[in-house]
Amino acid sequence: MIETEPKQEYDVVIIGGGPAGATTAALVAEQGHDVLVIERDQFPRFKIGESLMPGTYWTLQRLGIFDEMKRSVFVRKHSVQFYTPSGKAAAPFYFSENEPIERSQTWQVLRSEFDQMMIANAHHKGAQVLHGANVLEVLFEENKAVGVRVKMPDKSIRTIKATVVVDASGQSALVAHKLKIWEKEDGLQNAAIFSHFEGVRRDTGIDEGATIIFHTEKQDSWFWFIPLANNVVSIGVVGDIEFLFKNRSETPEEIFAAELAKCPALQPRIEGAKQLFPLKTTKEFSYRSSQLAGDGWVLIGDAAGFVDPIYSSGVFLALKSGEMAADAINEAFTQGDFSGRQLGSFGPEYLRGVDAMKNLVYAFYTREFSFGRFLRKYPECRKDIVNILVGNVYREPVNGLFEQMAEFGVPSVQSSST
Ligand SMILES: Cc1cc2nc3c(=O)[nH]c(=O)nc-3n(C[C@H](O)[C@H](O)[C@H](O)COP(=O)(O)OP(=O)(O)OC[C@H]3O[C@@H](n4cnc5c(N)ncnc54)[C@H](O)[C@@H]3O)c2cc1C
Repeated sequence: MIETEPKQEYDVVIIGGGPAGATTAALVAEQGHDVLVIERDQFPRFKIGESLMPGTYWTLQRLGIFDEMKRSVFVRKHSVQFYTPSGKAAAPFYFSENEPIERSQTWQVLRSEFDQMMIANAHHKGAQVLHGANVLEVLFEENKAVGVRVKMPDKSIRTIKATVVVDASGQSALVAHKLKIWEKEDGLQNAAIFSHFEGVRRDTGIDEGATIIFHTEKQDSWFWFIPLANNVVSIGVVGDIEFLFKNRSETPEEIFAAELAKCPALQPRIEGAKQLFPLKTTKEFSYRSSQLAGDGWVLIGDAAGFVDPIYSSGVFLALKSGEMAADAINEAFTQGDFSGRQLGSFGPEYLRGVDAMKNLVYAFYTREFSFGRFLRKYPECRKDIVNILVGNVYREPVNGLFEQMAEFGVPSVQSSST
């Protein structure tokens, strides 16, 4: 997507062209700044993380691609539904319960196509995009980020200078590892095994595109069920790393089959379905960076942290942090202030939303907690839960329910970051 050789210097260099990097790139480039996105992979490429939250609406609208989403073949998602360990379906959480309007629905996307759409939009807004180039390291001078060292597609090594370096490298978290500010999320050490399946039995009508979460019998693991276009369903099992991998000698195929055998509600849906590619595995994906920005650098999306796949908040937070960081960067150019304080000025507000998600994630993994029992005792909390599942964590106060959840043994978490 780059027509010319990259220059030696840019206003902003962004490492990674996923949803976070593409968002910042578009919103900074459209303000007339010189932006280069450096992406290791050639697009389109497979990526897990297919279920969006309705809260992505605001950023997609600002980026000008909400209408393109409406025209896409992506399956519409109106709700999330949980199945109990005994295989009983709970009432779905419909996103329109709080606000029956268009933005209370969203999509189940193929990331190969969604990420391509996002990066094409950034390019269209004026960002240069270099695919197939690997950022080897961020360069610092007296604690200030000044550029990157890159392995180019032709294998030559290049230094590219930048006034601001944005780390959007996803789970690679280049800067957090380099500065040793990467912290694992101790309470959430999970792993996942997943693939795509064709011919799975899906629900119909408004529930056709619902994300379904199936607990296994002893609550040692859970499955995601994400219906995609063309009769394909993304299915994956998630469990504690120790449980899923460390104390077992089986192959991922055997582990997947063993967990499926403990999932009475999912098993009949998948029987006879065709698995479209060998199972993929990923682990230790929950972590955070203790610092979001420093002089000349800022972290967004997964490079800043990732909570857990359970509520599909990853892309929403990637878009949100990408948008907030873009505003901080544009402001930095207006003020001529590229300090960490300016570039990370969005941190406290951003982390407030992350914490709301994280608290609900901890509720899910607390064995004494169940949404059913909780809502029978506190029916007034349903609105807050739906708001979190929608991604309405920056527009509505949603912290009211965590005190009540503590009664069910749910730990309360609060992030702080500089
Ligand atoms: C098992 C699992 C299931 C998930 N399911 C969901 C879901 O259903 N819904 C959801 O919203 N989220 C989900 N997520 C999370 C979601 O995938 C991420 O949060 C999201 O992709 C983050 O976007 P990003 O732009 O920050 O990072 P990424 O999408 O990872 O993009 C980072 C980019 O940086 C590039 N890169 C990395 N290192 C370098 C380098 N050195 N040089 C150049 N380029 C580099 C990579 O190639 C990549 O394209 C899931 C995550 C996991 C682990």
